[in-house]
Amino acid sequence: MNQVSARLAALSPSETLVMSQKSSELAAQGFDVINLSVGEPDFNTPTYIKEAAKKAIDNNFSFYSPVPGYLPLRNAIVNKLKTENNLEYKADQIVCSNGAKQSVCNVLMSIIGKGDEVIVPAPYWVSYVEMVKLAEGTNVIVNAGIEQDFKITPAQLEAAITPKTKALILCSPSNPTGSVYTKEELKGLADVLAKYPGVIIISDEIYEHINYGGRHESIAQFSEIKDRVVIVNGVSKAYAMTGWRLGWIAAPQWIASACNKLQGQYTSGPCSIAQKAAEAAYLGDLTAVNEMQEAFERRRDLTVSLAKEIPGFNVQVPQGAFYIFPECSFYLGKTTPQGATIKTAADLAMYLLEKGHVACVGGDAFGAPNCIRMSYATSDEKLIEAFARIKKALAELK
Ligand code: PMP
Ligand code: GLU
Repeated sequence: MNQVSARLAALSPSETLVMSQKSSELAAQGFDVINLSVGEPDFNTPTYIKEAAKKAIDNNFSFYSPVPGYLPLRNAIVNKLKTENNLEYKADQIVCSNGAKQSVCNVLMSIIGKGDEVIVPAPYWVSYVEMVKLAEGTNVIVNAGIEQDFKITPAQLEAAITPKTKALILCSPSNPTGSVYTKEELKGLADVLAKYPGVIIISDEIYEHINYGGRHESIAQFSEIKDRVVIVNGVSKAYAMTGWRLGWIAAPQWIASACNKLQGQYTSGPCSIAQKAAEAAYLGDLTAVNEMQEAFERRRDLTVSLAKEIPGFNVQVPQGAFYIFPECSFYLGKTTPQGATIKTAADLAMYLLEKGHVACVGGDAFGAPNCIRMSYATSDEKLIEAFARIKKALAELK
């Protein structure tokens, strides 16, 4: 009775969404909660994109779209890849989905079977390992600590590859760490991968435009592996369009066809209006995107300086995305004023929410149990207030 499948029973809920939900619940009870848990831009979608969506409604874009998305949108993405990334793709190598989250899941479901190994560098975005489980694959976690700026080395990658390795999931700029692989570092990984032709590289580049170090580098630029790279991207972060649900892949033809087939049975093409909005986003210039990135960079600087003032936090300076990921093991094992022990970073996040009314996410869910994730996609005032509360709450731990 009421028994979910073994597949569902083994699945963990998304911790980022759980903490965000808890924060909303406390706020609904009247508490003044500052939410640094969920990763989404706090900006409104740029006006020219909203106008395109309104026009799409008036022009009756209300019918099912082709499963991989309208051709003009896929052409706009092909053009974006050419002009922004110097990468050549054809429109039938692009598959648009309901957010990059579905894109990653489509790819894993399409290529991973029982027992296939997927290399996931940790810290990782919460959903990767759960999606691998859904696909009945085996996660092979490669740990990269703060001392190596949370980035794996070519030697670590090579040591993790076995005859069963089917894929590697790379995320740069990274959620949750904000680390960004340089071109040279990507080349080092590509040189290893070139030796193992059976390994598919899933390159999650959703934070491409939130990058403080200059030009975005994609691992797809290395021709010796390009025919095995699946780029995942979308409009959520760059264009402040998280709720529109529009992500995409640029993939080898056979993987694009597989995702197309899967999506055709599962969800069909993504929302027609969101597609027209995304098309306008990609056809427009990068003025709005660059303005948001500048705001994020300023907030990054503010957040890093605030976090560095917290005793016991070991803070690395993120080069992209909008998260900081301080190492907080100093506080593990300490006792709250109520007498509870903080055993894990998740406990610490819960304590900060209950005591300081600041929502963060414990690193446990990201494969980094000594760290805590804070999103700085919020106003300066809220950031300053949040860190004052965090400092006060942490000072009460014994
Ligand atoms: N990949 C990473 C690393 C993310 O942080 C997110 C954010 N949710 C996604 C993919 C999914 O983005 P989308 O909103 O397009 O589904
Ligand atoms: N990717 C964002 C985050 O990590 C949104 C939440 C989610 O989809 O998990 O917070």
